[in-house]
Amino acid sequence: MTELTSTDLDGEADAFRDECGVFGIFGKADAAAVVTLGLHALQHRGQEAAGIVSYDGSQFSVERHVGLIGDTFTKPSVLARLPGSRAIGHTRYSTTGGEGLRNVQPFFAEFAGGGFAISHNGNITNALTKQRELQKRGAIFSSTSDTETLLHLIAMSERELFIDKFIDAITQLEGAFSLVGLSGKKMVGARDPLGIRPLILGDLDGAYILASETCALDIIGAHYVRDIKPGEVLVITNDGLRSYFPWGELKPRFCIFEYVYFARPDSNLEGRNVYETRKMIGEQLAKESPVDADMVVPVPDSGTPAAIGFAQQAGLPFDLGIIRNHYVGRTFIQPTASIRHMGVKLKHNANQKAIEGKRVVLVDDSIVRGTTSQKIVQMVRDAGAAEVHMRIASPPTAASCFYGVDTPEKSKLLASRMSIEDMKDYIKVDSLAFLSIDGLYRAVNEPGRDSACPQFCDACFTGDYPTALTDRDGTETTRTLSLLAKHG
Ligand code: SF4
Repeated sequence: MTELTSTDLDGEADAFRDECGVFGIFGKADAAAVVTLGLHALQHRGQEAAGIVSYDGSQFSVERHVGLIGDTFTKPSVLARLPGSRAIGHTRYSTTGGEGLRNVQPFFAEFAGGGFAISHNGNITNALTKQRELQKRGAIFSSTSDTETLLHLIAMSERELFIDKFIDAITQLEGAFSLVGLSGKKMVGARDPLGIRPLILGDLDGAYILASETCALDIIGAHYVRDIKPGEVLVITNDGLRSYFPWGELKPRFCIFEYVYFARPDSNLEGRNVYETRKMIGEQLAKESPVDADMVVPVPDSGTPAAIGFAQQAGLPFDLGIIRNHYVGRTFIQPTASIRHMGVKLKHNANQKAIEGKRVVLVDDSIVRGTTSQKIVQMVRDAGAAEVHMRIASPPTAASCFYGVDTPEKSKLLASRMSIEDMKDYIKVDSLAFLSIDGLYRAVNEPGRDSACPQFCDACFTGDYPTALTDRDGTETTRTLSLLAKHG
């Protein structure tokens, strides 16, 4: 889910940020309380706002709030306003303030045949183009979210049955979308034809669950059933499950960055455990770019599993030379310019005792703008490290993501404007190396990148976008159609 305005990039962000987590349950008493727990497990996928829509057999109830799940949805008074045995939820990242609430999901609309709520993870890359077409036909939009476009496409569809309207609508979309919808009779899960963002099916005492990641099943003791397939529309009713594949069988392009950074390490995605994959990424990095050093230090938390793998492969001691403050939220604002200029160590601090006099290998997941890396390296030097070498557990991120991840524009990405040698000087390290793109594929258990038809979306490393970017390019959908034909 992405806003259609250009206000979604905060000028100082120095990380890729996943924008949404989705969760739904069908057929469990107090469904909203279960969704609250599921969204809490998915909090890393969006921390600024959240919402839940429930259905009690006769009416829908909607609650949407700015803040963390635990700030609002754990209150008995809020859950009491969300009755029923079916509910879906959403947690999102946003940089907007006051006007943000109108973009908080799930969205809910009353159609001619009844109510329908929708939660979306991803980004529809032709939403603005479709929005303009719909506005010419009289549609009035009440948010600046790409997800609302989908609701209008459903409303405008001339098909008879609701599920046919839904399929008619989503097959007009381009980009990345993992969707969870709720009507009076069914819960619907859908993934875009390339399966760019994750969506899994679980079971809790016979109640079906749809969620972004398996960690959201673990928190409630639910069982993993399977991943929703790329291009699958799964309909859950009291009669069971029914799948549709409106795009046919396609070669998937799952986001490889989910393994590097976005997903929680205890999740399993597309048959791979994220933690194990990150360790293998670290091992591969150590094989490709060994360094003569005394210790391996992770940049916590996201660099930790890769650092463990690096240390094991390199035969070097692993130690926590940097400590992270977990209570610094994304919304922590340093109050005055003078304090900002003090270079306050809000998030990380060096563990001087561990690193003093040592030749340190710092392992991080990625470099975005480079400003955080610069500060961390300086901090480690100030703490007395004899040498600082940096190893990055992904290839250089040289292109923006248009598939549901908040990224700085391309010109702000350090790797888009500097060679690795220049980046080394900018960050002020003794050596700098990135994992190769083939190494990344090998770490996730693939033979290497098939350049004719890559196995994953890796566009932020390669610039090879797997779908049309109609809103950005002003082009029509020919690229998507030709790609789909090739993959089909
Ligand atoms: S561009 Fe990068 S972050 Fe975005 S979906 Fe592709 S691999 Fe993932």
